[in-house]
Amino acid sequence: MGEMVLLGDEALALGAIDAGISSAYGYPGTPSSEIMEYLLKYSENNDDIFASWSSNEKTAYEEALGASFVGCRVLVTMKHVGLNVAADPFMNSALLDIKGGLVLAVADDPGMHSSQGEQDSRYFSAFARIMCFEPRNQQECYEMTREAFEVSERFHIPVMIRLVTRLAHSRAVVVPTPAREQNKMEKTDNTKGWMLLPALARKNWATLLEQQSDFEKYTTDTQYNPLTINEDFSDFGVITSGLGKNYYDEAKQELAVLPSHLHVSAYPVPVEKIRKLAEKVKKIVVIEEGCTFIEDYLRGYLPQPVEISGKQDGKVPLTGELNPDNIRKALGLSAKSGLKAEIELPGRPPQLCQGCPHADTYAALNEARESFDNSIVTSDIGCYSLGALPPYNAIETIICMGASIGTAKGAAEAGFKPVVSVIGDSTFLHSGITGLVDAVSCNTPMTVVILDNLTVAMTGGQKTIMPSSRLKTLVEGIGIEPDHIRTIIPLRKHHAENVDVFKSEMNYQGISVIIALRECIETARKHKKAGGAK
Ligand code: SF4
Repeated sequence: MGEMVLLGDEALALGAIDAGISSAYGYPGTPSSEIMEYLLKYSENNDDIFASWSSNEKTAYEEALGASFVGCRVLVTMKHVGLNVAADPFMNSALLDIKGGLVLAVADDPGMHSSQGEQDSRYFSAFARIMCFEPRNQQECYEMTREAFEVSERFHIPVMIRLVTRLAHSRAVVVPTPAREQNKMEKTDNTKGWMLLPALARKNWATLLEQQSDFEKYTTDTQYNPLTINEDFSDFGVITSGLGKNYYDEAKQELAVLPSHLHVSAYPVPVEKIRKLAEKVKKIVVIEEGCTFIEDYLRGYLPQPVEISGKQDGKVPLTGELNPDNIRKALGLSAKSGLKAEIELPGRPPQLCQGCPHADTYAALNEARESFDNSIVTSDIGCYSLGALPPYNAIETIICMGASIGTAKGAAEAGFKPVVSVIGDSTFLHSGITGLVDAVSCNTPMTVVILDNLTVAMTGGQKTIMPSSRLKTLVEGIGIEPDHIRTIIPLRKHHAENVDVFKSEMNYQGISVIIALRECIETARKHKKAGGAK
């Protein structure tokens, strides 16, 4: 296979295919979605790999564990906040005797381009005491994914690959190497290593702790953590990680002398190499994307007082992304204004597409609210989050996937009336459903509006996990009274009747569900172009 031009996400997916995975699971979330998109496309034409979206990140991770249990290599993908959802199986899986290589690809979003938080997943890998790789270009996305599977099977642990937005969503040339064969399917012969009963879990935890020195030996010896020492220059040394090295490589051309430098791509941090660097310099400048992960480690590891400069002392920005200018400043070079566009473009806030069904739903909901002295509308994560902005100003909370139903329940049970929760169909299936089970069990007086646009619109129009036609049956099965499951069609011509439905259910003294059913116009357009096929 020759050179290919791939996104970081795609290079990672190709690395997994060539590493011999048998299956892949994930939940869409920017900037990680394109990993699974690539694998789904591949699996359409190749039946040797099973690839599928899951209801949420937790179920995706659990499904991946099943594949590993029977000896197959498996990839699981999600964005950083998705790992919060998968945290339970993820943390516990570190104690399992992993059989088939299990690699977790997590894409972080420094700068919060399309996320509700700026997390650094390296902390999760350290928390679980597993290993993590952090590529800095597309070729490394490919190579490190292959290496991560080897490491997973060598140490019998899950291994994390951490990407960031700029890498996940930029393209470069990748040169693949010959693919490895898939593992033979064979159930683990150590089922005790998969049963976390307290007595067994304690043993597994002790084993994991004993392994830490092996992990550190690996990260000290690996080519992915190169150290170069300049014996003639001790003013400062540099530690980079991930994309930080790309910015450093650009800026260092203008330094009078090249300082000693350690690049970290494989974690746990290579302590011995850090000590070697610290022995040679008076100060260490740390350039890392995300939180102060390496910087925090340094403060505990260095044997002698060495000044540490980075995010903690404000030399590198604590939030947002790295860029060539802020790295130049951290290295004592003058900032270039190369990043500034010559023409200042006006800011353009995000908006719902023209003709979006959510706009008609919000118009009807807002009018219905006018007939109440006060009301609360909680909401969730999706295109419909834009209902928080003018001209709609329709929703008042956005917290995390699925939170709108529980938040509404709490407010209603505190005595507030009326309370409405607005949630998308995919977010409802992801994690809103359990909140609805709670609300049914208490017959909480509240209204849940499920915006069924027949797709996962915000992340690019992926298929929802369950067809729209089954949503009403599902809600009825949970225990909502059939008379209080209403379906509206959010179109201007139905506005008056939709307002009446909202008013009537907001006055009801029990739990009700309104399904607002109309396809996302973006996917409707695509389907029309493709000849009506869905
Ligand atoms: S992509 Fe679809 S759901 Fe999202 S704003 Fe546009 S029309 Fe609405």
